[in-house]
Amino acid sequence: MTMKINQTTLALVRGDITRERVDAIANAANERLMGGGGVDGAIHRAGGPTIAVECSAIRAKQGGCPTGQAVITTGGNLPAKHVIHTVGPIWRGGDAGESELLASCYRESLRLAVEHGIKTIAFPSISTGVYGYPVAQAAVVALNGVKQFLEAHDGLDEVRFVLFDDVTYGAYENALATMEV
Ligand code: ADP
Repeated sequence: MTMKINQTTLALVRGDITRERVDAIANAANERLMGGGGVDGAIHRAGGPTIAVECSAIRAKQGGCPTGQAVITTGGNLPAKHVIHTVGPIWRGGDAGESELLASCYRESLRLAVEHGIKTIAFPSISTGVYGYPVAQAAVVALNGVKQFLEAHDGLDEVRFVLFDDVTYGAYENALATMEV
């Protein structure tokens, strides 16, 4: 499923983000940039130790990455040239600023991408695994966040959501269908 926003294609696909041949993939990281389970673990395993070395250099310099922000490393052995590590909010019921923080993850990742001349970027569904954000709500926030950014900024050819399972893919498909109306 795809739609066009100005010059940029917004696409939804099912798959494993570690296999994406794009300029950058986003990682659902944690504030310490330590590498954990889920997509984070998969990215570090597939990309090799270089990514963790670069993360520890960022940690030494700025103490990690606050929730809602993003940092960039190379992609190590991944097909993607870069990894943009962004820290999604932990779901605490919805009244703790979760939607603003989640929207900020997408916006800050896209801002970093444009700054680095990245043309194609893939996102996983940030916060909807271990961090517990309800996927139907997260999908709306994610797609609207990306849409708002693309309406205001040129430079990206494609933003692709790479969704790992049917339930997550379905939630994003529903959210995109609603958005098109
Ligand atoms: P968070 O801690 O931000 O919730 P998780 O990694 O636990 O992050 O989950 C985020 C989403 O990433 C979930 O939908 C999970 O199924 C998905 N995911 C896990 N592995 C991969 C992968 N290799 N490619 C794409 N998505 C993945």
